[in-house]
Amino acid sequence: MIPPSPLAGERFRALGPRHIDEIARRHGLSEPLRTSVRAISHVLPFRVNEYVLDQLIDWDRVPDDPLFQLTFPQPGMLGGNDESELAKLSSDRGDRQLLREKVAEVRRRLNPHPSGQRLNVPNHAGQPLPGVQHKYRETVLYFPGQGQTCHAYCTYCFRWAQFIGDADLKFAAPAPGGLVDYLGSHPDVHDVLITGGDPMIMSTERLRSHIEPLLAVDTVRTIRIGTKSVAYWPQRFVTDQDADDALRLFEQVIASGRQLAVMAHFSHPRELETDVARAALARIRATGAVVYCQAPLIAHVNDDPATWNTLWRMELAAGAVPYYMFVERDTGPQEYFRVPLAQAVDIFARAYRTLPGLARTVRGPVMSATPGKVVVDGVEDTPEGSFFRLRLLQARDPELVGRPFRARFSPDAAWLDDLEPDPATPGDVRAALQWPPQ
Ligand code: SF4
Repeated sequence: MIPPSPLAGERFRALGPRHIDEIARRHGLSEPLRTSVRAISHVLPFRVNEYVLDQLIDWDRVPDDPLFQLTFPQPGMLGGNDESELAKLSSDRGDRQLLREKVAEVRRRLNPHPSGQRLNVPNHAGQPLPGVQHKYRETVLYFPGQGQTCHAYCTYCFRWAQFIGDADLKFAAPAPGGLVDYLGSHPDVHDVLITGGDPMIMSTERLRSHIEPLLAVDTVRTIRIGTKSVAYWPQRFVTDQDADDALRLFEQVIASGRQLAVMAHFSHPRELETDVARAALARIRATGAVVYCQAPLIAHVNDDPATWNTLWRMELAAGAVPYYMFVERDTGPQEYFRVPLAQAVDIFARAYRTLPGLARTVRGPVMSATPGKVVVDGVEDTPEGSFFRLRLLQARDPELVGRPFRARFSPDAAWLDDLEPDPATPGDVRAALQWPPQ
């Protein structure tokens, strides 16, 4: 049974670049920082809310505070002179047309669709199916059009191109009809991941209109909801007007005989420290949904073993399942956030070593790359030199799932494309990895 809400309600209010002076007045932000936020947010999306500002960010530690780094654009995120040129062009006397051109040029350089996402859009009835990606045999990703925003934006988001108002760069389905049709001719798909943006940004009524039609498809056995709302706006499950309706919808999914998996995105232990976040998790779990937790490893935010060890312990204590530590993808301000694989493997091993057994459900560091999900299992030293030990956790070709392989150790490599394969890599794995790059 869903426990009654113990907390009083607050109204959701989003704040963005227009509110930077208001935020500065309330919390104190230096003029250079304000200028940076304004300039960078022409290129990358910026959005926070009152809860993030008042309860997550520690303003005494700004600018180094990890939650501030997580949500506010930072000086140095863009390369070369981009930031100063944007600041100049966006000043009162700047040229609007030149600003638009500059913004478009910087965005093109930031690899807006990493990991071959466009390759994942399936064809249906002779047309690309909007708002759907089908990469692995059993799972489709579904992007409901009204769910393509979030309660706040992560500065490292690999889906940043979803939020910049460019229809050509956006994955979005107006309604679930096309997907339901597609599922009818793809009975191998058992798992639908509803993603965004954040599907929980939608009203429950809207969310219901996307989920209920999926319950009529017998072959769909699991509904997953990818969300950071428990971190950024846990009130969604506790005090929002339709919070109880959302939880009843979760119960309805489970009563239909499906599994409901809430794929929760937690980047830092602080996101789990508030009473309202804990209440949200308890209420979600009371519906029978299982909460799986995942996040990328990000410089300036969570790049140390103690942070991850604490995060996974807190997730376990809240009844959730630690699931993935991802490697930051090669998009957006990746240079600012990148953590080399050598360091990532060390952070993961040190964080994992002292975990209780039940928290060792977590896997990482994992690159969700064009060929599939590749985990870095470690580094081995051999008479021929040092190698990364790698494994395909997931692959477009199910025959390749679980296959180990190696790549030459490099202290700087931060993504699959930076790696040089071991010459002994079998041909089918090499072909799947597109080694050499095509
Ligand atoms: S909540 Fe998820 S989709 Fe939204 S900005 Fe953060 S990482 Fe991106």
